[in-house]
Amino acid sequence: MKQMFNVSNAHRVKSSISNLPVRLLLGPGPSNLHPRVNQQLSTHMIGYTDQNYYKVMDETMEMMRYLFQTNNHFTIPITGAGTAAMEACVANLIEPGDNVVCCVSGYFSDRIYQMAQRYGANILKVDRKWGTWFSLDDVRDALVKHKPSLLTMVFGETSTGVKQAMAGIGQLCKEHNCLLMVDTVAALGGVPFFVDDWKVDACYTGGQKCLSGPPGISPITFSPLACAKIANRKTPVANWYLDAMLLGGYWCPEYNFANGTVTTPQPLRRYHHTTPANLVYALRESILMICEEGIENTWNRHQDAAKSLYKGLESIGLKPYLADTNEVFDQGGRLFSLTTVAVPDGLDAKLVMKYLLDKYNIEIAGGLGELAGKVWRVGLMGFNANQTNVKLLISALEEAVK
Ligand code: PLP
Repeated sequence: MKQMFNVSNAHRVKSSISNLPVRLLLGPGPSNLHPRVNQQLSTHMIGYTDQNYYKVMDETMEMMRYLFQTNNHFTIPITGAGTAAMEACVANLIEPGDNVVCCVSGYFSDRIYQMAQRYGANILKVDRKWGTWFSLDDVRDALVKHKPSLLTMVFGETSTGVKQAMAGIGQLCKEHNCLLMVDTVAALGGVPFFVDDWKVDACYTGGQKCLSGPPGISPITFSPLACAKIANRKTPVANWYLDAMLLGGYWCPEYNFANGTVTTPQPLRRYHHTTPANLVYALRESILMICEEGIENTWNRHQDAAKSLYKGLESIGLKPYLADTNEVFDQGGRLFSLTTVAVPDGLDAKLVMKYLLDKYNIEIAGGLGELAGKVWRVGLMGFNANQTNVKLLISALEEAVK
């Protein structure tokens, strides 16, 4: 073949990567894929307008309603990381100039704050010390002072291991005509959370934590109030890829954002972007396993694993970073799916992590931001939340900290 240009082989790779190590992922996520989920990733591709794929989509959406404990019609997976789902909430629910309250007490609540700034919100940032959570009084004061149309918070703060108390917050927001947005990336499926009962308007999670699924696919749900706000926007959503009404045109074209009604028969689905079918299959499988186990049992399994971890830590002279708290499910305290462990004085946190990884293929993580060097972060999430993993980790840790 006659060529006008010479092909350069400068970047033609002969790969030197043969085997990736098999790790036990006990950090803040991703956690290990369940073998059933893994299998879905290698299931054959199907077209995005295939009626069979539509059935998979519908079933996945219904299962996500179970996962979120919601009847919200707009409950879809965002094809992107947890951060994309976060951005979908921020981009759709904020118009330039909107008053927004961002409750910030960790790395991920701060990420929401940074995003909200980019969408032109007029923000009141309520800062609390890392490792604490917000009281009803904190929320009430901010609502009264700033009169926001949106309040944002993180339920399970992965950087600190804190679970935000949810009792009464949604009701308070309703009384002040404010939508409530909550991040549950590190918690949903592992820790009790009730979107409808807790009057949450926008909520999202990620596939890779308590669902034992892959990263890059992130369930999201919007209440009818949130959808109405989107339908009544004066300005277009600044992010085309994450525009909820455009996404709805493909996932649930029967849903009317403005008034919450559903049209039958379903109007034709409109192409928006090519959804990653294998990630959708994998997400569906991961939530199907929660449907089979029963979500209360899944929550209990996470709680039992966390409690065994606390005991095991104590038995080897370590302890969780956060004080023990009561266990009322809608109160604040330790997050069962992610425990921050205090690094004893004089110990190099990184060396211990390296020892676990090199000798036992166990991955845990160090602290972020102001907790760097002070804590390890141990995740017992999804499929990984079991007694065998706790025993393994404790005996490896015992050796590592000697
Ligand atoms: N929110 C929380 C609480 C998280 O823990 C994470 C990731 O660790 C994210 C958001 C962002 O998710 P992703 O890394 O999938 O973008």
